[in-house]
Parts: sequence; C-alpha cells; structure tokens
Amino acid sequence: MKHALVCGGGGFIGSHLCLRLKNEGYWVRAVDLKHPEFSDFAADEFILGDLRDPVVCGRVVNRPFDEIYQLAADMGGAGFIFTGENDADIMHNSALVNLNILHAARMANVKKIFYSSSACIYPEFNQLDPDNPVCSEDSAYPAQPDSEYGWEKLFSERLYFTYQRNYGLEVRVARFHNIFGPEGTWTGGREKAPAAVCRKVAEAEDGDHIEIWGDGKQTRSFLYIDECLEGVRRLMESDFSGPVNIGSDEMIAINDLAKMVIEISGKQISIKNIPGPTGVRGRNSDNRLIQEKIHWKPTLPLREGMAKTFRWIAEQVEKTVLETK
Ligand code: NAD
Repeated sequence: MKHALVCGGGGFIGSHLCLRLKNEGYWVRAVDLKHPEFSDFAADEFILGDLRDPVVCGRVVNRPFDEIYQLAADMGGAGFIFTGENDADIMHNSALVNLNILHAARMANVKKIFYSSSACIYPEFNQLDPDNPVCSEDSAYPAQPDSEYGWEKLFSERLYFTYQRNYGLEVRVARFHNIFGPEGTWTGGREKAPAAVCRKVAEAEDGDHIEIWGDGKQTRSFLYIDECLEGVRRLMESDFSGPVNIGSDEMIAINDLAKMVIEISGKQISIKNIPGPTGVRGRNSDNRLIQEKIHWKPTLPLREGMAKTFRWIAEQVEKTVLETK
C-alpha cells in the first residue's frame, strides 16, 4: 500500500485529491489549517497544522512517504490576488510552506513530490490579446507574471527543481489553469469566476441583472476538478517532471461563461459589466506538451462541468437562505 501526504488537504483540490487517492487504495495523511468546508475528510488521518512552521512540517513529514502532494497556498480568485492588499501574505506564507515542506521531505527521504503551480506564472505581455494568448510552457521566460501570486509560484517551481537536481527528490510540477467544481469556495471573496458567476445567477430572480467584472471580453479556460485530478495522477505516474499545463483548452469570454450559466439556470437574467479586478486579457491552456509527454489531455466539455457546479452552488445558496429565515 502506498502512503501519501496531501498538504492543503482541507482545501478544494486537496480534499478531492484525498478522496481520489483513497479510492485508488492509498493510505492518506492530510494536513491543513482547516478541515474541508463542505464534506467530511476522506483521509485516514487529518492533521490541523500550520505549514509555515518548520516544526509542524517536521512532525507531519515524519516518514519516507511514497508521495507528497503540496497544494497548500494562500490563494483566492481575482478579488484576492489582484487587489494588491494581500501581496505580502501571499508571497510570505506560500513561500514559507514550500521551503519548509521541501526541507522536511528531504530529511525524511521522501521519494516523490508534486507541486501545484499556476497559469498565473505566464508573462502578462503574452496575454494581451484575448483571442490569442500564449501559454506554452516554454513561454514562461523572460518572466513577467501579472501578480505577486504568480511570482511566488515561479520562485517555488524553481525551488522544487533545485531539490530534484541537488538532492535527488523526484519532482512533478503542474501549472493548473482555473480548476472548478462542486465543494469549491463559492462566496466570501476568495471564490473564482465560475463559482462567483454560479452564485450570482443562483441568487438572482427573473428580470434581475448580474454584475461581471471588466468588459466581459476577457477570455479564460476552466477545468473541471475530476479532470484536474486525472492529470495530476497521470503526471505523478509518468517519468516527466514538468512543468506542464493542466488545464482545459476550451477558451471562453467571461460574458459567454455568464450566458452559459444563465442558460443552465433557465432564468431570464441580463449581464451588467462593471469595473473590477480582471487579470490578463486572455488565457488558455496550451495542451501540446501534456499530450506529447503523458499522452492525455482533458476533454470534458465546459458546459457539463458548469452544470454540475451550478447545481451544487444553487443548493448552497438555498441552504443559506433557509438558515437566515
Ligand atoms: P484552496 O485555497 O481551496 O486550498 C489551499 C489550502 O491550503 C487551503 O485549505 C488552506 O487552508 C491551505 N493552507 C494555506 N496556508 C496553509 C498553511 N500555512 N498551512 C497549512 N495549510 C495551509 O485552493 P485550491 O483551489 O484547492 O488550490 C490548491 C493549489 O492549487 C494551490 O496551491 C493553488 O495555488 C493551486 N492552483 C489552484 C488553481 C485553481 O483554479 N483552483 C489554479 C492554479 C493553481
């Protein structure tokens, strides 16, 4: 039986990953500042702990785990990353976690470690045209991410590869592109565009409008959680270290995403574009490398994932309304 540690196992992707690993027959330890918000934890052992503390990291990585999945990060959607107010915390907290976990992994003779980087590392100057963003893995340098979150991810990618070069720790690095799905943050300021749009539509009545940040012509692609986990596991099993994009290449303008959710809801709602933090003009996953190296790429149509996510968020909205009555 393989033993895995999931750092950030109380978060959106981490909690889904624990379940996936359990279903594959792993023994799983999860660590996070908090338990999963929307489900019971699936891990065999769940440790509440702050990975910024090297002593906690030493205690958590106290054996030669077959695999560590390092997903813990101080993160959120555009409302958290692009306002500038959280920059120091984002850089300090996430960098400390990565420094500590790598050191602890080396000390405990861990075999393999996965690190979740982000599409936010790609240079802003390659993503000015919403119809033709460049996000091939080799376009990361010369670097100019549009957020400190992206800079921290880029630093940490490099950090992981130094441990592979100097200490023989096997490393896998993926650059996630907007992962979404049920049991993700959907309110409170850290939610991402798909969840925010679903919430706004779920809360609106016929004849209302929903607000969308920017002119709505900015483009993105969104990957459903199950396909993200499939990509992570396949990368982990492969002999390719990355960094590699794990994302969908079905690009869509944000207003069109909103229209898609409105259609799914069956409501009569209009869209009002308002000023707000939006990030780069265009972004899409370039899936040539993942296809070449691990002979797989995500294929689930966006609409299917959005329909499942909308159903789940509409349920959460309904529960909240009932609780406040
Ligand atoms: P999330 O915020 O739901 O999960 C991250 C978890 O890390 C949270 O539960 C948080 O409590 C935990 N954490 C933060 N600081 C910690 C600390 N000091 N000690 C212990 N735990 C700590 O985010 P997610 O969407 O599940 O993302 C997981 C990873 O994937 C992150 O590294 C993120 O940067 C990366 N990523 C996610 C996306 C996406 O679209 N969701 C896109 C690109 C990259």
